[in-house]
Amino acid sequence: MNSCIFCDILTGKVKSTPVYQDDQVYAFTDVNPKAPVHVLIIPRQHVSSVMDVQAKDLPLFTALYSAAQKIAKDKGVDQNGFRLVINNGPDAGMAVHHLHLHLLAGRKLGWPPG
Ligand code: 5GP
Ligand code: ZN
Repeated sequence: MNSCIFCDILTGKVKSTPVYQDDQVYAFTDVNPKAPVHVLIIPRQHVSSVMDVQAKDLPLFTALYSAAQKIAKDKGVDQNGFRLVINNGPDAGMAVHHLHLHLLAGRKLGWPPG
């Protein structure tokens, strides 16, 4: 595997601001936030993209979405609303090739996204 910035965040080589963690998932604030609440939720296991997720990895998705629920409640945005985004591929602007959910909230989010 080539170097991966999110794997470096997981090892602590690159500093991050933790928001939530458990044995499968780590969540931290986005360094370049696009909303008042912008959290990245990643698996501890390196999975390159949503296209690499296999049926056997489905418990990982349960863990990621369960973390999202907890974070939304902790941040107090579960009632007003939030958006979960997975960018995949160049047209979606995917920049980091380690599966991640963006949790965006804290302002009215436009639809459709740009
Ligand atoms: P993507 O476009 O791949 O879906 O999103 C990658 C996200 O990772 C971007 O929102 C970007 O701001 C964030 N990001 C990239 N490098 C770092 C970093 O070193 N630390 C943190 N906290 N976020 C990062
Ligand atoms: Zn990685």
